[in-house]
Amino acid sequence: MATESQNSVSGGRSARGGAVRAPERTCAACRKVGPPESMVRWVRGEDGSVVPDLKGSGFGRGSWLHPRVQCLAKLVPALSRSFRAPVTTSPEAAVALLRSAGDKRVRDLLGAARRQRKLALGSAAVEDALGRGLAGLLVVAQDARAAAETPGVRRAVAEGLACAWGSKERLGRIVGRPEVGVVAILDDRLAAALFDAIALAHLQGPPPGAGRNPGRADVSTEVE
Ligand SMILES: [Zn+2]
Repeated sequence: MATESQNSVSGGRSARGGAVRAPERTCAACRKVGPPESMVRWVRGEDGSVVPDLKGSGFGRGSWLHPRVQCLAKLVPALSRSFRAPVTTSPEAAVALLRSAGDKRVRDLLGAARRQRKLALGSAAVEDALGRGLAGLLVVAQDARAAAETPGVRRAVAEGLACAWGSKERLGRIVGRPEVGVVAILDDRLAAALFDAIALAHLQGPPPGAGRNPGRADVSTEVE
């Protein structure tokens, strides 16, 4: 673990064999430092392909990247440098991996919220939760126009407190109903994690050619 791109003291060593984890990470592409929640950890397989590790805790050596177009476009040179070994996953494939990992994480988090009874289901329950200040985030099914038309939901959408994801049927299947148009997450930590996961599930791809023509800055820095 001492080899991770943590923003730790020089050399990245820890007297206790890597048990001390610095709270911040460095993006391998843009080199900016930030909290782990703002980045995605990537793990490289023996064949040179990389996969996202959204929980940030998987085995093996990891390297961190912002999940945004500018940084993902530099994924190949950035991660090859960081792992000191070639990386074969294209930026386009990486975006597809992030989208499906984000989608799975949305399902997991909604399932967790259901098990912890931190969900309000349907327009009436959601309006009630909003009225009592309990809703950390609303998830509105992408085919649920009617559910999004209640005053509280409209206000939440305007305030950026709502995300569109899935269909009524899909959302319903996760929360144990035939269909549900809108749910409220009644836990701030789950709401924040869900917000990030939905952003990943909807991530847009890098511009065409971004991965094939890395800028000079990507290849000229650092001789290690
Ligand atoms: Zn970055």
